[in-house]
Amino acid sequence: MADISGREAHRLGLDGEITRRDFVKGALVGSGAALLGMPAPAMSTGSGMPGAAAWNGYAGTGDYARANGNTWEARESAHLIRDGKVDALLESAIETGETYDVIVAGGGFSGTAAARTFLQEARPGQTCLVLESHALTGGEAKRNEFLVRGHRLVGPQGSNLVVPPTAPGDWYDELWNDLGIPRKPTFQTLTGYDGDLRIPRDNFYPMFSIGDQISSSGYFFDSKTFGGTSYWDRDAHRTGFRHTAFPETVKADLRLLMGGTGRNAAGDDWEKWLDGMTYADYLVGVLGLQPATARLFDPTLSLEGGLGSDCVSALLAAKVGAPGFEQGFPEDISLYRVKAERPEDLVTWSFPGGNDAVYRLLLKRVLPEAIAGGPTFAEVHDGAYQFENFDRPGAPVRIRLQSTVVQVKHEGPAGAPTGVVITYCRNGRLYRARAKAAVSSIGGWVAKHVVQDLPDAHAAAFGQLNYGSAMIVNIALTNWRFLAKLGITSANYFMEGGLGQCMNIRRPMVFGQHAQPLNPDLPIVLTAYVGFPSPGLPAKAQAAKGRAELLSRSYRDYEVMIRRQLTEMFASAGFNARRDIAGIVLNRWGHSYVVPEPGFYYGLPGQPAPRSVLTQRAGRIAFGHSELNGIQEWFGGVEHGERAMRQALEVT
Ligand SMILES: Cc1cc2nc3c(=O)[nH]c(=O)nc-3n(C[C@H](O)[C@H](O)[C@H](O)COP(=O)(O)OP(=O)(O)OC[C@H]3O[C@@H](n4cnc5c(N)ncnc54)[C@H](O)[C@@H]3O)c2cc1C
Repeated sequence: MADISGREAHRLGLDGEITRRDFVKGALVGSGAALLGMPAPAMSTGSGMPGAAAWNGYAGTGDYARANGNTWEARESAHLIRDGKVDALLESAIETGETYDVIVAGGGFSGTAAARTFLQEARPGQTCLVLESHALTGGEAKRNEFLVRGHRLVGPQGSNLVVPPTAPGDWYDELWNDLGIPRKPTFQTLTGYDGDLRIPRDNFYPMFSIGDQISSSGYFFDSKTFGGTSYWDRDAHRTGFRHTAFPETVKADLRLLMGGTGRNAAGDDWEKWLDGMTYADYLVGVLGLQPATARLFDPTLSLEGGLGSDCVSALLAAKVGAPGFEQGFPEDISLYRVKAERPEDLVTWSFPGGNDAVYRLLLKRVLPEAIAGGPTFAEVHDGAYQFENFDRPGAPVRIRLQSTVVQVKHEGPAGAPTGVVITYCRNGRLYRARAKAAVSSIGGWVAKHVVQDLPDAHAAAFGQLNYGSAMIVNIALTNWRFLAKLGITSANYFMEGGLGQCMNIRRPMVFGQHAQPLNPDLPIVLTAYVGFPSPGLPAKAQAAKGRAELLSRSYRDYEVMIRRQLTEMFASAGFNARRDIAGIVLNRWGHSYVVPEPGFYYGLPGQPAPRSVLTQRAGRIAFGHSELNGIQEWFGGVEHGERAMRQALEVT
C-alpha cells in the first residue's frame, strides 16, 4: 500500500470528487472465485492481494466500466484454470444439452472474425456459439469513457492504431470495405492556443523513436535520475538531442538512427538473418551502437513485442518500424515506418477508443442487433449494447458473455474423435456443451491449460511462447493548459521508477454527435502506454517480474504514483493534480503481447517455428489468436480467426 500522508493525499486530490470510485464491478463476473466457494470478489482473498474493487479501481462511465483490461474477476478465473483448481469440479458440470457445429472460445477480434467467417461460409442450418469470459466482447480492443464537465471523453484500453489499406482489392482492402471502416476521418480544430502545436492522432507514433516528427514533444529529465535541476527539452529529435541529458555517445547514436541507417549482411535471406538475433544484438553487434542506446527503445518495444531490445527478435523490431533498418532493407519492411513532418501527413490514426471502433463494426456485422441503431460508423460507435440480443436461441451465431471456457476436450476414440466437449463457467457454475469442432481464439497462455489432449508438437510450441505485460492508463484532465504552457502534446520521460516512458494527448476525431473539445482550457484524455521490461534478465524472468509488478499493486498504489509523477513533471507549468485530474482508469494486460524472441518466425536450429505448428488444426480444434503473427495487430486477429474457422468447418 502506498505510504502517503493525509496532507499529501489531499494535495494530490486523492480524496477528490471524481475518484469517488464506482465499485459496482465487484458484483460482476466473479465466476471463478464463486465456483470454489472463495470469498466474494470485493473482499480480500487473504493472499496479500487487494480485493476486486481495490484492484480494478475507478473504471469510467458507460458499458466499458464493466471491463477495464484484465479485471480482477477474469484474472482470478484464469488463475484457477492455470492452477488446475477446476479439474475436480468438472464432473459436476451441468449438461446444457446444446450441440453446435462450432464453438469458439474468446470474443476478441479473432473469435468474432471466426464467427463472421462462419456466417459467410457455413452450410445453411449450421450453428456457432462464441463463449467470452468478460462482461463485454472486444478483448484488447475496448475503450474507457469519462464524463467531465459535460464533455464525453473516450480513450483506448489497448489496441490503438489503424493503417488504412494501400492496395485496392486485396484482402485488407476488402475487409475495410466490408466492415465500413471510415478512411478519411475528420479531426477537431484547435482553439484557445495561438502558437504552433503538433497534435498526434494516436498514441503510438509519439513514443520515443519518431516522436518529434508528429507531436510537439517534451523530454523530461528529472534531477533524481540525471542530477542537476529537473528540466524539459522541447523537440529534442529536431534539435539533434543537443540539450538532452543523455551521454554524448548515446546522442551520437540517436542522431545516426534518426537520420536513417542499417546494415544487411544476409542479402535476400535478411528476414531469417534478423530473426536469428535480438534487436540489441543488431544495434550493438551489427551497427556498433552503445548498449545504453538500445535500452532507450525498451519501453516502446515492450509495447509492440512484449519485452525490450534484449529479448525481441530483430525481425520483430524491423516489422514494427523500429529505427536501424532504413538502409540495406526493402522500403516496405514495415507497415509502420512512416516519415512525416506533421501529424496531418501521416496516413495512420486512432479512433477515439482505438480499435474498439473497428471491433464494434465487426460485431455489428456478426450480430446486427447487438448494438442499437443503424449501420453507419457514428451509429455503431455510439449505439448502446443490447445484451439481450447476444445469445438468442435459434440464431446461427450466439455470443455468451461472462462464460469462461475451462476445458476443451475431444470425445470419441483417440485418433478418430467424433466431436468436442466444452466446459465453461458462468455465474459460479460449470456448464457443458458439445460441438463438431472448436476454435480457440484465446491466447496461448490460457489455451495450453484449457485445451486437453494437445499433440506433442502443439504442446511444445505453446511451451515456447512467452508473454509481456502492459498497462494503459487513461487520465481524464479537466484542462491541459500546463501542456500548452510547455508547448507540448507528448511527454517523454526517462526517470528511474517512472511509469512507462511516454504519455500524450490526441487530436479528437469528429463524427456524428461525437466532438470532444480541443482547447487547453477544456477536458481531454492524457494516455500513457506502459511496458514492463527488465533489461538484463532472461526473457522468461523479465516477463514474470513485469507481470508481478503489474498485478501486485492496488489501484490506489498506482493512483498515488501517477499523481506524484505528473506533479513532479508538470507542477512547474501550473499543473495541480487536485484540480486538473478528473479521473484515472487503469487497463492492465497481464499477457499483453507474445514476445517474438529470436527464432519465433523461422524456428530455432532443428525446431519448427511455434506459429507454423499452431496454425495447424489439432484434431477437431483449431487455433486462431493474433499472437500467431508475432507482431500483434487487430487484422492479424481477423486473419487467424478466419483461418481457424475455415479449418474447423472442414470437420463439421
Ligand atoms: C496494449 C495493446 C496495444 C495494441 N495496439 C494495437 C494497435 O495500435 N494496432 C493494432 O492493429 N493492434 C494493436 N494491438 C493488438 C491487437 O489489437 C490485438 O492483438 C487484438 O485485439 C487481439 O485480438 P484477439 O482476438 O486475437 O485476442 P484478444 O483480444 O486477447 O481476445 C481474446 C478474448 O478471449 C477472451 N478469453 C480469454 N480467456 C478466455 C476463456 N478461458 N474463455 C472465454 N473467453 C476467454 C478474452 O476476454 C478476450 O475477449 C494492441 C494490443 C495491446 C495489448
